[in-house]
Amino acid sequence: MDDRVRKRLFITLLACSLLFLVFVFSFAWWLVAKQYLFVNQIILTLALMFFILLFLIAGAGIFFLVFSLWRAQNYRILNTYIHKTIDFLFPLALTIGQWLGFEKDRIKNSYIQVSNQLVKIARPQISPENILILAPHCLQRVQCPHKITVDVNNCRGCGLCPVGDLLTLSREKGTQLVIATGGTFARKFVKERKPQAIVAIACERDLTSGMQDVDKIPVIGVVNERPEGPCHNTRVNLCEVERAINYFIQGGEV
Ligand code: SF4
Repeated sequence: MDDRVRKRLFITLLACSLLFLVFVFSFAWWLVAKQYLFVNQIILTLALMFFILLFLIAGAGIFFLVFSLWRAQNYRILNTYIHKTIDFLFPLALTIGQWLGFEKDRIKNSYIQVSNQLVKIARPQISPENILILAPHCLQRVQCPHKITVDVNNCRGCGLCPVGDLLTLSREKGTQLVIATGGTFARKFVKERKPQAIVAIACERDLTSGMQDVDKIPVIGVVNERPEGPCHNTRVNLCEVERAINYFIQGGEV
């Protein structure tokens, strides 16, 4: 699927979320306004003002998001605002997307592309040792006896799973690499290692929640491949990982 199409889906769903809120509020207004009570009118006026304010704030957030992506320009002062808008509307966008028949993973994938693009246009330049590659345990071959979650250097590089190649890549580039068994360990690694940038590999679900968690550190998400189903013997496109690392090292497109 074309990257632009994937981004468009998420942005369209954000806009749909706003329209949905407009519809709900209009309906509530119509119901209560019929009662002609003075106190109702005051409450409704206050509610209307609150809603208009919310709509303007969220609408401006979507506008700045689209504007930043369209100009491929990072406006540092707006970053938090844009991310807060996305986080606020995301659950609703996800629900509406599912009502419209889109798969959850497809919507989350679209969110990841939007987030990645926001990081890329910010062009943060990070030295390799401050970049953390955060990979999931499910990449390891299930039969492998080596304790790579304790220390990834325990990997023997036998070639049966992508961990060996990831280790080689991280050594070549001079980045850190950790293998996490879940979200809790991923957060623990981030806290301990204090990276300035993260290349995160995971499924759509884990990447979405993880990327929302670490909003102060730039993260480029790489979705893993699941040829044998979720959570075991997964794969990853190493070129995508390398491209993400190079983005951070070179501070922009390579
Ligand atoms: S590449 Fe490393 S982690 Fe993967 S199966 Fe071989 S020794 Fe185990």
